[in-house]
Amino acid sequence: MATGKINVSVENIFPLIKKFLYSDHEIFLRELISNATDATLKLKHLTRLGEAGGVDYGNPVIEVKVDEKNKTLHVIDQGIGMTKEEVEKYINEVAFSGAEEFLNKYKESAKDSGIIGHFGLGFYSAFMVANKAEIITKSYKDEPAAHWVCEGTTEFTLSEADKKEHGTEIILHINDDDKEFLQENRIQELLTKYNKFMPVPIKFGTKEETLPLPEDAPEDAKPETKTVDNIINNPDPAWAKQPTDLEEKDYNDFYRELYPMQFEEPLFHIHLNVDYPFNLTGILYFPRMTQDMNIQKDKIQLYQNQVFVTDNVEGIVPEFLTMLRGVIDSPDIPLNVSRSYLQTDGAVKKISSYITRKVADKLKTLFNNNREDFEKKWNDIKIVIEYGMLTEDKFFEKAEKFALYPTTDGKYYTFEELEEKIKDNQTDKDDNLVVLYASNENEQHSYIEAAREKGYTVLILDSPIVSHLLQKLESSKEKISFVRVDSDHVDNLIKTEEEKISKLSEEEKEKLKSDFEKVIPAEKYTIQLEAMDSDAAPLIITQPEFMRRMKEMQQTGGGGMFGMGNMPEMYNLVVNTNHELIGKILNTKTEKKQQRLIKQSLDLARLSQNLLKGEELTNFIKRSFEMVK
Ligand code: ADP
Repeated sequence: MATGKINVSVENIFPLIKKFLYSDHEIFLRELISNATDATLKLKHLTRLGEAGGVDYGNPVIEVKVDEKNKTLHVIDQGIGMTKEEVEKYINEVAFSGAEEFLNKYKESAKDSGIIGHFGLGFYSAFMVANKAEIITKSYKDEPAAHWVCEGTTEFTLSEADKKEHGTEIILHINDDDKEFLQENRIQELLTKYNKFMPVPIKFGTKEETLPLPEDAPEDAKPETKTVDNIINNPDPAWAKQPTDLEEKDYNDFYRELYPMQFEEPLFHIHLNVDYPFNLTGILYFPRMTQDMNIQKDKIQLYQNQVFVTDNVEGIVPEFLTMLRGVIDSPDIPLNVSRSYLQTDGAVKKISSYITRKVADKLKTLFNNNREDFEKKWNDIKIVIEYGMLTEDKFFEKAEKFALYPTTDGKYYTFEELEEKIKDNQTDKDDNLVVLYASNENEQHSYIEAAREKGYTVLILDSPIVSHLLQKLESSKEKISFVRVDSDHVDNLIKTEEEKISKLSEEEKEKLKSDFEKVIPAEKYTIQLEAMDSDAAPLIITQPEFMRRMKEMQQTGGGGMFGMGNMPEMYNLVVNTNHELIGKILNTKTEKKQQRLIKQSLDLARLSQNLLKGEELTNFIKRSFEMVK
């Protein structure tokens, strides 16, 4: 038996490995199974080339076993194995220097928190959970098997073993602190998390399978059961197949396989498949979106060669697409680096813009091929699209072709179509195209009706980020403004040259204004006298578009609008100088009576805007009863 010393320059490498991010101890299993998979696939490759010296590839499995009594965990493969010399080279030197390099890098980037994946620690990550590790391995070459033992120090022993079949068995003697890794449930959980789609079948124990009854079986026949291997993975997941080999149903089945707790079908999918200038496969799904963008537990999963890495794809896909679900698999994403590094990495940037482009193209195809269906889905996907338009300029340009603007009468227009439809009736005196919209069909009902009566088209734009999007649309297009229907009296929404005739003289108007100002708090209302139809409402409360939008943007997290959130609610009080009641108020001689009329009318206007609440509402009702008595 040979003994030896592993050559290291990082002092205390073992304590370092052991201490390594405690919460990530579990990744050791993924690393060992990745090695076992690589060793198996290497043999596959050699047998294909006819270079495996007559060794038959067969149907290899990787087996994981726990031996609670002896406190050991075993990972056994039927891959290429190693000769004694190879153990010296690959385990003592390559693996060690790999681990060393990784730790050095890790120490640096750990400062810059958010390191992802922790790929690269490899075989030595076993020492995060084991105080002793053994390797029993036999090469596919005709050479004796080797047995390597290391007790978590830089000393090791290497001797011959009598293993007959090619392949490698790793035996970990689990630390007392890491006993959880001797529990079957815990191992099952880890295997499902990291290895669910790895390319070589992984066996963990056995299970009972019920055999189907033969057709001629008597009625009281009991089905037979058979003990079969418990294979935890699907080595051939949908994303690794060619899109042409898959049907709609296969995509939906795979969705269910990825998210067993999701009972709703996805709306549609996008199959990603590129091998130049980088390698990337994957399937993204558009789920039905809820208004709440924060609730997101079934996220996009990132894999490398079918090994699960993380479900935090921030920095890899553009933010608006993190609302989607599915899988991305790419060996070209650097993983032992920090997230802030990722965002500046050239390859990652290319990947991110490729994904964005594919999503935009798919949306466009869906729109072109079946517009009716696309319109039906619009409400469920608009948040993603609107958010994308807002945050990614490239996507904004492409979305021009398929982003929809629904109207209160149930139609959906692209912006170009909308422009065409409204330009004659909704262009103001300064040649601006005024796009009217509502954010709530119920609450803004009377305003919507008034606008429709004038022949205006009213959009329904109700996503939480609409105010930001409108701001962006206005700044990227010429001579366009969006105005919410309740931001002014209908006659003022789209300003025309038309002169309006007022029943009141200038003097009367001035008196009226000062009468109102005595009663109406100036910090809340700006009084605006308007000569409108005599049968329009006498008083109308509106909230100016600009103020309201700024406030909304502040609330949904608009950068740079300091102080706006604390801005007081400001309204316009439009007084219709042609209304009979206003004339009556003007001509009321007793001040007390006049003030009561103004107050009462104001409260009625507030009531119609849902602004009268609490004590004020109670008082209003009391007062009204007094008046009708
Ligand atoms: P990496 O896999 O990143 O190269 P590891 O530390 O995990 O680093 O492994 C070092 C080397 O040891 C591998 O490259 C491989 O040559 C060899 N090795 C590890 N595990 C096995 C195995 N199960 N079968 C055959 N060779 C292995």
